[in-house]
Amino acid sequence: MLTNRPRGVNDILPGDVEKWQWIERTARDVCRRFNVSEIRTPIFEHTELFTRGVGETTDIVEKEMYSFQDRGERSLTLRPEGTASAVRAFVENKMHAQPQPTKLFYIGPMFRYERPQAGRYRQFHQFGAEVIGVNDPSVDAEIIALAMTFFTELGLKNITLEINSVGSPESREVYRNVLREHLAPVKDQLCKDCQSRYDRNPMRILDCKVDACKQLIVNPPFMLDHLTEEDTTHFAQVREYLDSFGVDYKVNPRMVRGLDYYTQTAFEFIESGSTLSGGGRYNGMVQQLGGPDLSGIGFAVGIERVLIALQNQAVQVPLETGIDVFLVALGEAAQKRSVTLLQELRTTGLVADKDYLGKSMKAQMKAADRLKARQVVLLGDDELAAGIANVKNMETGEQVSVPLSELVEKLQQKL
Ligand code: ATP
Ligand code: MG
Repeated sequence: MLTNRPRGVNDILPGDVEKWQWIERTARDVCRRFNVSEIRTPIFEHTELFTRGVGETTDIVEKEMYSFQDRGERSLTLRPEGTASAVRAFVENKMHAQPQPTKLFYIGPMFRYERPQAGRYRQFHQFGAEVIGVNDPSVDAEIIALAMTFFTELGLKNITLEINSVGSPESREVYRNVLREHLAPVKDQLCKDCQSRYDRNPMRILDCKVDACKQLIVNPPFMLDHLTEEDTTHFAQVREYLDSFGVDYKVNPRMVRGLDYYTQTAFEFIESGSTLSGGGRYNGMVQQLGGPDLSGIGFAVGIERVLIALQNQAVQVPLETGIDVFLVALGEAAQKRSVTLLQELRTTGLVADKDYLGKSMKAQMKAADRLKARQVVLLGDDELAAGIANVKNMETGEQVSVPLSELVEKLQQKL
């Protein structure tokens, strides 16, 4: 027990963590260019935020939440997604009093009680972005373009963008009944979940992953054919903007995102059959969470799935490797001096390390090799007494003698 991590969570170790840092750096960099600011919200929130904000009939809320009572007997939940928290923070901090839109992004862990498998974990990580306060269809296209830019900058290819309109609440009201009517003859043969969805949220039946349900649902009526005029216009304009941005997409009228809060535009980014990211508009949520009637749109990318895609496509992740300087010290006085020398090197910005175990010269050189040091400083008691050190360029093998007083400067120049 003590040395096993809980099911569905991962350690991210050195060697891998550099890839994560690069992905996060890319996300931050792209957001900066889109003038989207970072927001950091708590890892846990009142459970009610998610039941109300995400919706009672979503898988997340029905069966995936990590909820617990704290010592004050409040029900808290480890955040299963980022949008509800971002909107909560927007309302609570009265960001709506500022000129709109508010553009936010977040990167961090999310928690869902799911059956762990490849690309599906209980603690996973998302990068997400949200634009609150503007309903213009150009914003829908812009947020989609942001996600696409992120994938492109990572060097990912063949990412399919699927879009749909899931309509406004008015459109859905009508469509739900059309769909119920269509499904009525097969209702009793649907899976248990779908039978309960039939009354509560029949659109989710189209999203069911159970094979039997998939086969029962032939030629269902689509939301797209039952949109209000306003929804139809909005969707047409989103498509026009995407066309003018040169972003390729496929309209998928079957797509129903798993979250109840989506209105109008919904979209997914897919790579080799795996969904890397999902998003959409959530025009009712700000008000639902106690704020003014403002619209919102956003997406969330699963970082673990991005890593799988990078691996599938054999993308070379640009990693910084090696260190600038390794200090090889022999003798007691030299060992002592190397401690302060190391500090001097590091404060000037060099990446530097040394041996700590009083190893032999040969073993220390081996360590320098293992760390891919570009320069090695050889310091013995004799050199120290003479006020010099030998510097070996590990690439060329060339070795020069340098006065200690000029050592730091010389090493810096070599880079
Ligand atoms: P799925 O249909 O795969 O369960 P979802 O609709 O629940 O996805 P969202 O809530 O839209 O997913 O989350 C956005 C993205 O976060 C997903 O596209 C996926 O990349 C990632 N994601 C969601 N759940 C997990 C998980 N349990 N483990 C790893 N990544 C996840
Ligand atoms: Mg899910």
